[in-house]
Amino acid sequence: MTPTRVLVLNSGSSSVKYQLIDMADRSRLAVGLAERIGEETSALHHEPLAGGGGKRERHGRLADHDAALEAIAEELAADGMGLDSPELAVIGHRVVHGGLKLTVPTLVDDAVLKEIERLIPVAPLHNPANVTGIRTAQRLRPDLPQVAVFDTAFHSAMPEHAARYAIDVETADAHRVRRYGFHGTSHAYVSRKAAELLGKDPSEVNLIVLHLGNGASASAVRGGRCEDTSMGLTPLEGLVMGTRSGDIDPAVVFHLGRVAGMSMDEVDELLNKRSGLLGLCGDNDMRQIRRRMAEGDAAARLAFDIYIHRLKKYIGAYYAVLGTVDAVVFTAGVGENSAPVREAAVAGLEELGLAVDGELNAAGGKEARLISPSYARVKVAVVPTDEELEIAEQSYALVASR
Ligand code: ADP
Repeated sequence: MTPTRVLVLNSGSSSVKYQLIDMADRSRLAVGLAERIGEETSALHHEPLAGGGGKRERHGRLADHDAALEAIAEELAADGMGLDSPELAVIGHRVVHGGLKLTVPTLVDDAVLKEIERLIPVAPLHNPANVTGIRTAQRLRPDLPQVAVFDTAFHSAMPEHAARYAIDVETADAHRVRRYGFHGTSHAYVSRKAAELLGKDPSEVNLIVLHLGNGASASAVRGGRCEDTSMGLTPLEGLVMGTRSGDIDPAVVFHLGRVAGMSMDEVDELLNKRSGLLGLCGDNDMRQIRRRMAEGDAAARLAFDIYIHRLKKYIGAYYAVLGTVDAVVFTAGVGENSAPVREAAVAGLEELGLAVDGELNAAGGKEARLISPSYARVKVAVVPTDEELEIAEQSYALVASR
């Protein structure tokens, strides 16, 4: 029997998300989340999707990622789908930063782990957790292939003129300062699905992909390759996000240091955790912001307007970068669910061939769909992202090709 199952692990700084996927029919067998790892209030939410068992919860401290992964393994084992199962083909890990060297899904060995560790200075929040996740998984199943799939990979095709910051080249190169981009797995998956929706091969279409979740990024995709993306050295650059500022004059950092006496770490925390929608109005959930707007809340309105203004700027910029655009594609929590955001982002862009059909936009649904009127020169689409499935596909393809 050829093993067909893939366990996808997405290890964050204090959480591990996981999915067990059977590649024979791409069905989910189990999904779950371990959260608040390291705190007294840790929780594990586990849901077996095969066999009909209901959701299960565990509460109580998970000391570290090791403990979390062990608890996850126990839950899977209780459903007869443990890590020792002969049906498990590979464990696929989401790794945030692959730098310049790790640009394709990669079978993890010591050298690869070292390279992921070497990149910790440019991804201090994410890569350490990713390394821990891989090490623990290796310990639990030493014989099983582990594949790393990098968030930066899709963007590694970016031309040099988009990837470089206009700063002294020697300084930049000495410290690996350049634009890497993130959410690459999502941008890659969504681009492919959008091409399918348009009935074309990915090589034939130019797309502007807007991944709008808590983190948010835009990318300009020409013929299936990334031409530019809005996140840079770190996931801070670009769009207005839930708690991150996105684009900002770098001199704001010096100013806050000199005038407000803030330390580097304080400014870092401000821009990453207390900015974006949260900093502007006190809420980072678009649903709550829309509720407040309906009640006439001015701060929520302004936060929304700033969010939309930035989105529009990126649509315009990437339109210019691509020259011709086949579709603007919305994805992730906000992009998939917020009709008002989609409508506002393309409002007034009729001259660019862009329009949204009110009814189609409001209709909702879990499938990839067009929301532009039939006359629109440039299509507008909603394409649900599925980073876990993409990681599973890439990991499985790699082990199957060996
Ligand atoms: P993450 O970046 O954490 O993976 P998601 O892609 O899941 O985020 O997006 C989460 C965000 O999506 C929430 O913070 C919320 O703002 C937004 N969201 C989710 N559902 C809706 C909805 N029905 N309407 C508007 N916004 C939504």
